[in-house]
Amino acid sequence: MLQDTINIKINQIEESRINQVDWDNLPFGKVFSDHMLVMDYDNGAWKTPEIMPFGTVPFHPATSAIHYGQSIFEGLKAFRGADGEIRVFRADMNAKRFNESAKRMCMPEIPVENFVECIRKLIELDRNWVPDREGYSLYIRPFMYATDEFVGIRPSDKYKFLIFTCPVGAYYAEPVKVKIEEYYTRAAEGGVGRAKAAGNYASSLYPAKLAQEKGFHQLLWTDGKTHEYIEESGTMNVMFLIDGKLITPGEENDTILRGITKRSVIEVAKKWGYEVEERRVRVDEVLQAIRDGRLTECFGAGTAATIAHIEKIGYRDEIFDLPALETREFSNRMSRYLTDIKIGAETDSFGWTMKV
Ligand SMILES: *Cc1c(COP(=O)(O)O)cnc(C)c1O
Repeated sequence: MLQDTINIKINQIEESRINQVDWDNLPFGKVFSDHMLVMDYDNGAWKTPEIMPFGTVPFHPATSAIHYGQSIFEGLKAFRGADGEIRVFRADMNAKRFNESAKRMCMPEIPVENFVECIRKLIELDRNWVPDREGYSLYIRPFMYATDEFVGIRPSDKYKFLIFTCPVGAYYAEPVKVKIEEYYTRAAEGGVGRAKAAGNYASSLYPAKLAQEKGFHQLLWTDGKTHEYIEESGTMNVMFLIDGKLITPGEENDTILRGITKRSVIEVAKKWGYEVEERRVRVDEVLQAIRDGRLTECFGAGTAATIAHIEKIGYRDEIFDLPALETREFSNRMSRYLTDIKIGAETDSFGWTMKV
């Protein structure tokens, strides 16, 4: 196993590609920084990670992950503050969740300190790639997949762990229109919904496409058994303000991804004196609260947008219009507050950021 102080081999690029970046037209996830980190697992142990020039990874046609889907990922961001400092938000939480995903998928875990150190070192080397424009950030994508060259179903013996990064522009969190899904299922109890496993996203594409054809941005998933309870939306957890209380589906079963943004919203809300309920949330309870005017806010929480306001909810043949965005005091304040912690404009009293 790796030690606490991890040795990382560095093979630096000769010439940076950063001058080729068109910062005014930065498509999400298509521009990659100079370096990536690669670490192999073999014979029951992780090898020395290596930071190398970003590039393609050759693969054998029988690579296990391609056929049987042992593949997991994480997503987090680094920000450059007004003070010039670079901060990464709650990387230790991503490391822990990565290991929970790994366990569920029969993949090897990575000690939290090592996972975080790999990120820190990579960002340190590519620090020029952390944009200094307002709202911009460096998206960090750690992932792991099975690399046995073997046609047969069993947990792979070999794995690759990689991290690459992408500078991304301001996420104009356009308010979203979601459709409550009552037929397709994202995750079943006992399944892998809690894991950030690649296959979960593949299986959601088709139902999401059907909803998009009807003019929705995303689905609001319900539980696979009864379709009577709200679960989450796309790659965001969903939160409601009803009767002044912050309400969100709980994590007691294993169908919902344990979002770090959602966890952070809950911790801040409690500090601000809000009552928070993490429990099962019935679809009809939410719809009734909208009709009664008791639902004042509704939003998705996730790394991409931090807070994405939900402006319309489709249910069967009805469309429910939610309160105007400028009236949403709680989520607007929360969005500002979390963003300010990330860029160092607000004191990080929770100890959530790591400076690089
Ligand atoms: C990543 C993800 C989230 C949000 O998690 P954050 O840690 O807040 O980014 C929520 N739901 C799903 C399905 C996800 O994949």
